[in-house]
Amino acid sequence: MKQPIFFSPIFQERIWGGDKLKTEFHYDIPSNKTGECWAISAHPNGQSVISSGLYKGLTLGELWESKRELFGGLDGEKFPLLIKILDANDDLSVQVHPDDTYANQHEKGELGKTECWYIIDCDEDAELIFGHHAQSKEMLAEMIEEGNWSSLLRRVKIKKGDFFYVPSGTVHALCKGTLVLETQQNSDTTYRLYDYDRRDEHGKLRELHLEKSKDVVKVPFEPQKVAFQTESTDTKKVTKFVESNYFTVYKWEIDGEASFDQTYPFLLCSVIEGEGFLIKEKETYTLEKGSHFLLPYDFKKFELKGQMQLIVSHV
Ligand code: ZN
Repeated sequence: MKQPIFFSPIFQERIWGGDKLKTEFHYDIPSNKTGECWAISAHPNGQSVISSGLYKGLTLGELWESKRELFGGLDGEKFPLLIKILDANDDLSVQVHPDDTYANQHEKGELGKTECWYIIDCDEDAELIFGHHAQSKEMLAEMIEEGNWSSLLRRVKIKKGDFFYVPSGTVHALCKGTLVLETQQNSDTTYRLYDYDRRDEHGKLRELHLEKSKDVVKVPFEPQKVAFQTESTDTKKVTKFVESNYFTVYKWEIDGEASFDQTYPFLLCSVIEGEGFLIKEKETYTLEKGSHFLLPYDFKKFELKGQMQLIVSHV
């Protein structure tokens, strides 16, 4: 199998969503409240469909079930990763995700969720919530019960090109004016801690999960240590953002023609800027901003040509 596998994304409308998935990525979105593009997904709540080639029409989940050799024969009932683009046109609820052990026990065998964010673009002065200031579980419970959110929540200023690693147990929220590529474990389990007392169009508050949140929040919060590794040639720059138990994530910046070697069980690639081509032996595939594809096991050597930026990940 020497073909890249391209996917059609799934869109999810959200109360905090906007229209940037159309204006920036030219996707055909369902409404101007589209919050999430599930770009590479085998999650039952939204499966990517293969858009061309030998396996056209199959979902990623079906491919994982029936052609495990394309993924290097990896074990596991579920495809491990999920790639999304999020358009936060408003603040998202403040939330936390469980780890694998807690999710397995409390959420009917779901996986936990460790995620990470690459800031594709954001408003000037944009920020996000990343961590908290409680020094003990008692202090955390007290601040939650008092609704002392301004003291509890840790706010961070962000800019285009920033990267955040968000392990399970981290209190977090994207805030208004942020466009993000998210690489995460294949899970949809979220515990909502605080929703700004917002009401929906029916006057209802969204459900909170305070007890589960208190169970899983790690105390105290320890900020990520940032030490990105970069390798450059004349035509490419590869930045490794994180290498964790769940995924390794890179940014590839291409300027000209650059060679790569796919030596992992599989590689997930998303073009977030620019355009160009993927060249594999005699075949050439067109890439544009918003293209998402998987390079299977044994894909080996290939070239990328053009001016573009990609976010790339593997297990
Ligand atoms: Zn999250």
